[in-house]
Amino acid sequence: MVTAQRSFRADVAIAGGRISAVGEQLAAAHPEAPTIDASGLLVLPGVIDVHTHTRLPVTEQPDRFFADSVAAAFGGTTTFLAFNNPGTGISDAGAASLLSGMREFRSRTAGESAVDFGLSAVISGTQPDPISELPALVESGVPTAKAFMVYDFRLTDERLFEALRALGRLGGLLQVHCENATIIDALVSGALARDEVDCRQHALTRPTYAEAEATHRAIALARAAEASVYVVHLSCADALAEVAAAKARGWPVYAETCPHYLTWTDARYAADDEAEVIRSVISPPLRSAADRDALWLGLRARGLDVVASDHVPDRLSVEKVVPAPAFPQISNGAPGIETLLGVAYSEGVGGGRLGLERLVDVLATTPARLFGLPGKGAVERGRDADLVLFDPDARRAVRQVDLHHTSDFTPYEGLAVRGAVRTVLLRGEPVIRDGAFVGRRGQGRFIERESARPDPFS
Ligand code: MN
Ligand code: MN
Repeated sequence: MVTAQRSFRADVAIAGGRISAVGEQLAAAHPEAPTIDASGLLVLPGVIDVHTHTRLPVTEQPDRFFADSVAAAFGGTTTFLAFNNPGTGISDAGAASLLSGMREFRSRTAGESAVDFGLSAVISGTQPDPISELPALVESGVPTAKAFMVYDFRLTDERLFEALRALGRLGGLLQVHCENATIIDALVSGALARDEVDCRQHALTRPTYAEAEATHRAIALARAAEASVYVVHLSCADALAEVAAAKARGWPVYAETCPHYLTWTDARYAADDEAEVIRSVISPPLRSAADRDALWLGLRARGLDVVASDHVPDRLSVEKVVPAPAFPQISNGAPGIETLLGVAYSEGVGGGRLGLERLVDVLATTPARLFGLPGKGAVERGRDADLVLFDPDARRAVRQVDLHHTSDFTPYEGLAVRGAVRTVLLRGEPVIRDGAFVGRRGQGRFIERESARPDPFS
């Protein structure tokens, strides 16, 4: 049994989909109850992936949302949060209004998912009046939203401040994509003017200082708004330093990183083959080895709070075709919904960079706390029986042919990893058993999340 605090040998009793007891000899005391033998395996809380861009089902691809939810289950993720725009298949009307978007998302995903899921809204600069919709949005179980400081749907600083203040007063949390748009636009324009349009320019035009500046600014705006703030997909040491400085002052600033920043470096952009480079066109881009090492240290030292996938189910055959258009037109993102736990465990615990308890903390317990999911995220009496039986001794290589996500590639192709998900329970019911999918479409529920976040600004 692994919690965020300790690991110990115990039985878990499940009743009504919840954990009713954790202790010794529970099975012996209830010989009539069906049991699952987890000898030799780690029992972890189901992973909560708070950052995904899963696609809504459409007529031509009716299984896309379901298939990625099955992929999540295979990876040990029992709850994921999805954004509903941009690019996820929501209608224009749904993208223009937080409440319309929420209702459309719920109706189009009803009965689709194999694991539990929730919505995180996107507040965009193209919506006429998102701030006035926030009270009703939070009330309906969507207490978090993402805002962008870059891209043409970004928020102005004024609107970002308003969103932080409004969500803060409602007990919600704004997830901010921190990159400086002025710097990036200038560097992109310069590259295009020099006719430097190949894929690797994507990374060269998004420097770490652009991320660090925006991170600093988002934190300053949150401070003025007396709101907490959550920095998504933090990728570099300079941005981490901004978060760490805010935390040292006691401000409620949180940050997430992703497995790709913990695993790969910008050496991937040096490949001669554009078909290789385009797989790593993500934002922020991959960084240096020193940045990667700093992120591991940040996870250990609690400058970073969460690891999430930033799953974008792009395909080499559709969104990332080569020869590619000029780099600003390439879709940003890469898949990761199925590999989150496996890669984080192997690179972190297997690689001696992170303790097992801290891994559980950043993948499940802290996400549950920050994102309004008090019924999930820990192997603890009263919480949902979302459990992963994980074989720490397995050795395998990650291969696209073995995955179930809706992408046609994985950034981790060929990566040798330690550990494997064997069995996954969702509210006590098996979804994965001995490595096979035994769940069903609609087994997962939409979770109306609570608005209470733990640390108000003080
Ligand atoms: Mn982003
Ligand atoms: Mn994202």
